[in-house]
Amino acid sequence: MARIILAEDDTAIAEPLARALTREGYEVSVRGTGQGALDIVGNADLVILDLGLPDMDGLDVARTVRAQGQDLPILILTARADEVDTVVGLDAGADDYVTKPFRLAELLARVRALLRRTGADGAGDELRVQDIRVDLGARRAFVGNREVQLTAREFDLLRVLAKAAGTMVSRDALMREVWGSDPSSSTKTLDMHVSWLRRKLGDDPNSPRYIATIRGMGFRFEDGS
Ligand code: CA
Repeated sequence: MARIILAEDDTAIAEPLARALTREGYEVSVRGTGQGALDIVGNADLVILDLGLPDMDGLDVARTVRAQGQDLPILILTARADEVDTVVGLDAGADDYVTKPFRLAELLARVRALLRRTGADGAGDELRVQDIRVDLGARRAFVGNREVQLTAREFDLLRVLAKAAGTMVSRDALMREVWGSDPSSSTKTLDMHVSWLRRKLGDDPNSPRYIATIRGMGFRFEDGS
């Protein structure tokens, strides 16, 4: 799976983001300085780069990466929305940007898109649990040979649960990773989507074969063992 450098000095942003990326299956290295990121950039598939780093301007980090001849995608994180034009206009070498505060789901989508572009996303990778097959590259899901038509949310829910098959995924984690929202917000929508997903998979909520409810805590995709 793809290796990502997260250059962000604000741990309140870096820690949850690194957790989410790790959960997506990426190998994540967090660095709190521009130099720290530059030191390891040769081994990475993508850099998520905060513009406001303590030792150097993120734009200079991007320029240095390009000056070294590295062509990996650079995704800029910036609180300075007014400077986004500068990021792109001055062609510091960034590929895309997300402004803070960002929605986690949106950021993850941008990361996927950038990696897909470079072919580093392991497109074609599949999850197989019981008789369920999840094609991560094509975003298609199958029960046996039957394709299941899922909405984007249902697919992401299935992907996160199936990837963690055999272990519980907390309600908070699902809210963050599928909806990108603050877990303290209403989670009724989570239960609705789980219910729809179960129905499409042909699962029985009273005796679930696939998605077990851990009451008040989360859900577990049964690995069939
Ligand atoms: Ca910062």
